[in-house]
Amino acid sequence: MAGIYLHIPFCKSKCPYCNFFSVASIKAVEEFLPALKKEISLQQYYLGNQKIETLYFGGGTPSLIKPSAINRILEQIQNSFAVEKTAEITLEANPDDITVASLEAWHNAGINRLSIGVQSFNDADLKYLGRIHSGAQAEKSVQLALEHGFNHLSVDFIYGMPTLSDSAFADNLEKAVSLQIPHISAYALTTEPKTAMDAMIRKQQMQGPDEETAASQFRYLMQYLGSRGYEHYEISNFCLPGKYSRHNSSYWKGDHYLGLGPSAHSFNGISRQWNVNGISRYTSLVNAGESHFETEVLSPSQRYNEYVMVSLRTIWGTSLDHIKQEFGEGPASYFKDLASHFLISKDMIEHDGIFTLSENGKLFADKISSDLFLDND
Ligand code: SF4
Repeated sequence: MAGIYLHIPFCKSKCPYCNFFSVASIKAVEEFLPALKKEISLQQYYLGNQKIETLYFGGGTPSLIKPSAINRILEQIQNSFAVEKTAEITLEANPDDITVASLEAWHNAGINRLSIGVQSFNDADLKYLGRIHSGAQAEKSVQLALEHGFNHLSVDFIYGMPTLSDSAFADNLEKAVSLQIPHISAYALTTEPKTAMDAMIRKQQMQGPDEETAASQFRYLMQYLGSRGYEHYEISNFCLPGKYSRHNSSYWKGDHYLGLGPSAHSFNGISRQWNVNGISRYTSLVNAGESHFETEVLSPSQRYNEYVMVSLRTIWGTSLDHIKQEFGEGPASYFKDLASHFLISKDMIEHDGIFTLSENGKLFADKISSDLFLDND
């Protein structure tokens, strides 16, 4: 089982907190699409003959390019890879791009899951985040998508910003539940280095996120969505029964994936590679048939660290048997010894050799997993 990620690097405008690679213009799309097409054929053997079970159009804003372009990309992927008939095919869409016509066109192109960048239903938050849609538009876009058959639907929320009071956050979640949104991804706002938000906060031109508020909103998020039947299956992801993101779950379970487009990452079990940033750089290297990515072969300790970091964030947890089989007795007893401290502090739970984070432990997931890491060899 394997997946393909396609990075579509265009946005209408650049949100100040965002550190994904994208440009605030669609001018280069005609230069980009042929290069992406070429990269698809150059990389068609990367995943061997594994069946492709998930495809994911991310970005950037994939909903910004014409549905006919999505259609052509999908056709080429189908011609180059063994795509399962039941594959999950997700498109990230911003609320301002969602219309009846676009929904129908995406559906006809084969998209069967949407991930909508709502972030908040509250206009003050959207303004703070530099988003160009309104809360009303966000709500309407979700309703339209559900009415037009996209019942595999995810919505992204951000919390922890100074404009978002606890009651406004509760309202956001209540609205999401009342709309019967089957999948919710929620992220604490962080100020990433080199973003416009980071620069403005440093110059005291804007107020940054507050860690304590974010922590208390995260607790509320877990408690409220849990009480409404959502499964907290990954630190930032919640879903109604069975409505997991198959694509993201496959990353978290260590399946192989190919990333296409500038800045996209790939993993084949042995090495990971990442494509160059910059549309011109990417297109000129791909068109010339020159290497457009860097590769790193993972050492055993890197693979162990990656496994612990990712698996511990999920409901499926970290398996001691898996560590033994993949990395040997030494790393397994190292993990068990260190994890015992977190069992005593009740930040972790163990059941039949599977270690997961408790509700409290989820607040410190990054710190706990890094404490369980092996030194690089
Ligand atoms: S957050 Fe999304 S829409 Fe905003 S700049 Fe980043 S990729 Fe584009």
